[in-house]
This record gives sequence, structure tokens and C-alpha cells, in this order.
Amino acid sequence: MKPDPTANELIELLKQSREYTRYFAELGVETIALSSDPIPSESSRPMPAPSPMESFTRRAPSVSELRQSAMKTPSVSHPATAASLFGEMAAPQFQSTESMEDVWRDIGDCTRCGLCEGRTQVVNTFGNHKARLMFVGEAPGADEDAQGKPFVGRAGQLLTKIIEAIGMKREDVLIGNVNRCRPPGNRQPTLEEAAICRPFLFREIAAVQPDVIVVMGNTALRNLLEVREGITRVRGKFQDFRGIKVMPTFHPAYLLRDPSKKRETWEDLKRVRDYLDNLPPRPKES
Ligand code: URA
Repeated sequence: MKPDPTANELIELLKQSREYTRYFAELGVETIALSSDPIPSESSRPMPAPSPMESFTRRAPSVSELRQSAMKTPSVSHPATAASLFGEMAAPQFQSTESMEDVWRDIGDCTRCGLCEGRTQVVNTFGNHKARLMFVGEAPGADEDAQGKPFVGRAGQLLTKIIEAIGMKREDVLIGNVNRCRPPGNRQPTLEEAAICRPFLFREIAAVQPDVIVVMGNTALRNLLEVREGITRVRGKFQDFRGIKVMPTFHPAYLLRDPSKKRETWEDLKRVRDYLDNLPPRPKES
């Protein structure tokens, strides 16, 4: 049977629509206004629509707000709205005028979720604010909670070796987590805890604009990408996060438990190294 190009296009539009809906939900957008007016042409639009970054600067929703918004269904049904939504989003706008410090100021001494009760301190993303490469893990453990920096325990020491194996130093890269507070007993953060914390990670990513993000383990994978499969199936294949290349690989804590997986991790990281090596140098800032 011949592939139907219209059906394929429709499937692609539906995929994008799902991704954008999820994206706006993560930014705290609860409803999308409908307009029955015709869509104005580019030149006749009085004001540009707010960029996703303006939505980023909203404070993170509280748990009860998140619960309420989860109950509401975004009402995107009018064809004009869908067209206008895609029109606005056609060009990737994952840019920011914020600095990392702006994001951290907003995070403050965070009490947005229950993890604040058991933590010693908030563990923000750490490293080079102009990094081309970023690593994202799950949440701080005991060492990170004590020192206030991500990946400083045993898993962190292995991560340092991984970074050095591709010819870089820890100071060259950015290292962060989906959650910034240590979950009790090092349990996995709940979906709700992750959903409350990850917008700050997204804002940091927008501020730094790395060329590649290495997501380590299932929590990082599932909070950055919309994938159903686990890390074992997805690892080693470049994915996309809002225009940024993402390489999923095993979490270093898992490598400590199963060192035989180091070989695959090395393959994944070589792909990252080769990709970075082939990028043109970034223009120098004036
Ligand atoms: N594991 C993580 O996922 N993050 C850390 O910062 C430390 C261990």
C-alpha cells in the first residue's frame, strides 16, 4: 500500500500538538484562549504573542494548583487556534533573557513540595554557565544534600571519570538534576515532585543553551523527553529536547551496581564527543 502523505502529515501534527500541550502544561498554562476572529497576518499582528520564555518566568505552581490544573482539560478545538498555536511555535523559541542566578533567586529556600522537609539544602545545577554539554540526573543523595552540589558522592566520582574519558573536565560542563532536594531514603522522586521541580531545570537549560544534554537514567529521560520506553531501549540514540540534542544513557549509580554496562555508556559518550567535535566554534561574545 502507498503511504498517504496527508495521513502522515496529520500524524505529525497530532504528535506536535501533544508535545506543545505538554510543554504549556509544564509552564503552568492552564487554558488556551480561543478566538473566533480570523488569524491576523504576520504583518498586521498588533503585538507578538508571549514567548514560552515569558511563561517560564511565572513562579512554579503549588501542589494544589498543579492538582487543580491536572483536573482541567485544555480546550484546544478550534481550527484557527490550532493554526495560530503552530504558527507561533513554528520557530523554536527556547531562549531566555534569564541568567542561572535569576532562576536560583526564584527557587530560593524552596518549599514548593514535601521534599523540603527532609533536605538539608537545595542543590542547584552546578558548573560552567556557558557549557556546551550538560548532564542531568535524578535527585541529590546524602553527599549532595550535605555539600549542596550535584554528583559529589560515589556516582559523582564516576561521572567525573566519564567526563574526563571524553577529554573534558568537570569545570567545562554543567551538572544538574530533575529534583533539587534529597528524597527520603534516596527514593525516586514522585511524578508530582518531579513536575514541580523540573520547570527550573528547563529555565536553566534555556539560560545556558547547551548543545547536548546527557540524560542519565529513567527519571531524567522521562522528565525531559516524552518516551514510554526505558533507558535500556532508548540509550545511545540522539533525541531532541526543544531543539537541543539529548543523549540518553545509564545513570552512574547503576554503573556502580552493574559495571558491565560501562561499555555501552562509553559508546554513548563517544557519540556525544564526536557530535561536539564536529560543531563549529561558538561566536565570541563582544
Ligand atoms: N544521583 C543523582 O541522580 N544525582 C546526584 O546529584 C547524585 C546522585
